[in-house]
Amino acid sequence: MTNSKKSDISEAQQDLLRRLPGVDAILEAIHEAGRFPDTPKTVILSAVRYVINSHRNEILVRPDQFKASFLDKETILRRVDAAVESAMRLNLNHVINATGVVVHTNLGRSLLSGDALAQMQTVAGRYSNLEFDLSSGKRGSRYSVVEDLICEISGAESAMVVNNNAAAVLLSLDTIARHKEVIVSRGELVEIGGSFRIPDVMAKSGAILKEVGTTNRTHLYDYQKAISENTGLLLKVHTSNFSILGFTKAVGLHELAEVGKKHHIPVMEDLGSGTFIDFSKYGLIKEPTVGESVAAGIDIVTFSGDKLLGGPQAGIIVGKKPIVDQIKQNPLTRALRIDKLTLAALESTLRAYRHEARAIKEIPTLEMITAPISEIDKKAGDLTAMLETVSNGRLRIETIEASSRAGGGSLPLLELSSKCVAVRADGLTAKTLGHRLRQHTPPVIVRIEDDQILMDMRTVQTDEVKIIATAINGIVNEAEHDQPN
Ligand SMILES: *Cc1c(COP(=O)(O)O)cnc(C)c1O
Repeated sequence: MTNSKKSDISEAQQDLLRRLPGVDAILEAIHEAGRFPDTPKTVILSAVRYVINSHRNEILVRPDQFKASFLDKETILRRVDAAVESAMRLNLNHVINATGVVVHTNLGRSLLSGDALAQMQTVAGRYSNLEFDLSSGKRGSRYSVVEDLICEISGAESAMVVNNNAAAVLLSLDTIARHKEVIVSRGELVEIGGSFRIPDVMAKSGAILKEVGTTNRTHLYDYQKAISENTGLLLKVHTSNFSILGFTKAVGLHELAEVGKKHHIPVMEDLGSGTFIDFSKYGLIKEPTVGESVAAGIDIVTFSGDKLLGGPQAGIIVGKKPIVDQIKQNPLTRALRIDKLTLAALESTLRAYRHEARAIKEIPTLEMITAPISEIDKKAGDLTAMLETVSNGRLRIETIEASSRAGGGSLPLLELSSKCVAVRADGLTAKTLGHRLRQHTPPVIVRIEDDQILMDMRTVQTDEVKIIATAINGIVNEAEHDQPN
């Protein structure tokens, strides 16, 4: 700190800074108390430095909120404890999703079914026939683990899988349309988020984007007029995270497939989320299915493994055999290769789709999307009851109607009616409560509206209800004592 700055701070602040213990004094106290016998020294040292620095910062930035009692040895040691504990915790860990967004990309998208988890465990801890043909005793292909299953469920001739759908799109474009023109409707030049934009992926693959039509209306003749000897592909992209309403027109799959066939140009569709199930059967908005695209004669269809499909992160490519074979030969395939744990989980997930009712019940993403309101209401009631017993009148708790979203760039217009537990806590803003819930182990991620926290029970698992109640209780109790943040 420079001298000129020092002169800006008050006597009281200077006094607090002088009383702030040094690193050695705190280390000594830790040693005397016999704390952290098994923790690496470097971790303890950084925790101590962190606590001293944050105290210094608090004294300088928010002196009015800093109490002399924060400098007590016990208080400081407690904060070092917390810092050590946080440094020793895994960085990637369980969080509770109370946002109501089922396929939440930032929270890990899809949860795997019990079978998929067990299968991953087996394949991870044992040798497997990943690329070994047990009948011939020779080298086999890892893609054969899921290829037949995907064809069976989708009706496609051929299939392969890669790391994610972005990779599936890149690989397909690179294989089919390198240095050739790809005709796409202006209404479908989408950005998915996380920097996946159709024009950019196109540029990376070496394909040349040829936009046709307008944002809201594209006709068959727009594609037909754009076709030339340079055309390598007609591409359709599912507008998975937005919708254009009103005066609109898009060309249907059958018509596009017909045009492609007539001009001997392959037709590809990036379905985005992709689903094998017709959600309209469950009273939800219809999302185009993989089977429909295949049946319409689209040559290559790509989609994600971990969006509405409810499996692990993967990109699935289905379509006509000669083109899929060409894609398999592309050297890029090796760079985008799917991992064995993913394959294990994907195979299990796909097997559940052989019986739709089983898929709906066992695949958590499908189960949450189709969950009856009575089930969600029950969880809301359980959480409310638990909070009421611990709240001591310090919480205002209400169950409100709300809508959850499918998320993950799927069913953009779908609002699933749901139930949220809304909580206000005396003396805590919703922002602070939300922040402290994120600091809890496990963290609880909530929505904030009208200065209250909203917990959508659709995405909260049954065994997490109690954890949330305990977390809120702890935060409210702690807020009664004077604690620095
Ligand atoms: C989500 C999405 C992608 C990217 O899929 P990932 O599996 O996340 O790589 C590509 N295209 C569309 C239309 C999407 O919705």
